[in-house]
Amino acid sequence: MKIRIGAALTVGAALGIASALAQPAASNIEAHLAAAKAAAGFDFTGTLARVCIAPQTGPGRDVAPGPAPARSTWFTEPAKVFDNLYFVGTKIHSSWALTSSDGIILIDTLYEYASDEAIVGGMKKLGLDPANVKYVIISHAHGDHVGGAKLMQDRFKSRIVMAAPDWDSIEKSVNQYPNGKPKRDIVGADGQKIALGDASVTLVFTPGHTPGTLSMIFQVKDQGRPLTIAYSGGTAFNFVNDAPHFDIYINSQRKMAEAAARAGATVLMSNHSEFDNAVTKIKLMAARKAGEAHPFEIGREAVARYFKVTDECAQVAKLRL
Ligand SMILES: [Zn+2]
Repeated sequence: MKIRIGAALTVGAALGIASALAQPAASNIEAHLAAAKAAAGFDFTGTLARVCIAPQTGPGRDVAPGPAPARSTWFTEPAKVFDNLYFVGTKIHSSWALTSSDGIILIDTLYEYASDEAIVGGMKKLGLDPANVKYVIISHAHGDHVGGAKLMQDRFKSRIVMAAPDWDSIEKSVNQYPNGKPKRDIVGADGQKIALGDASVTLVFTPGHTPGTLSMIFQVKDQGRPLTIAYSGGTAFNFVNDAPHFDIYINSQRKMAEAAARAGATVLMSNHSEFDNAVTKIKLMAARKAGEAHPFEIGREAVARYFKVTDECAQVAKLRL
């Protein structure tokens, strides 16, 4: 009996100590969560839900892609969104064609199953020739963005741009590319400009989501008016969840926030509609009246808030480790 009481007291004492130690961390979590919610407002609900509220997942395994889902789950019509930027993505993932005086730069390439119809077919529907795609910039080597890279490389001899660590991960993968891998081509580096005719995309190396995630800054025109886009290359926390990885991720969010502010970006884009509401905003384009703001133009302050959400939510996740 004495032993039992002693054990109970020890457990109780241990719990007391644990809760005392946990309190500052818990209040920090609440503070970062509140900051993230405030930054998200109603602009970035999808981003907030995914990285601050939904349970986190670890890195994906090196397995073959599953069967293609039904077309009705992903297909959406392509659209001209700016004078020189065209959406050729799906309901879930984005792929963008940036036209120039000397050809096209394609940004991200969806899953392999969607790439032929959405990108190649979509460009044709919009009057663009996919054979004019000179560069394909891949934000990171996950299947939902790199899936069409091999097609573009093989069929149109497009040059593929990716950061070194993500080229490495493709080369190391045993199972993820049953239909073949894109061959290592241009190694994108921090600050590098991918220039074509009168268009130029500046790469910002933002490791975290993957070791080689590339974000981007580039200009488009809306009815002749130049606008700067900050394109976030990777968002979710499906990487090794430990403090060093979260620190890398957090630093990258701050670096991209700075790059966006320096460039005067007023448009925030991501490669998932979940994070930037691309597909919904494209629908709104149809109802846009002369003189109304472009649905993608959210302003510098809102662009900054996006990176505040990912920064704060990463701090929440790190404190919860
Ligand atoms: Zn990814």
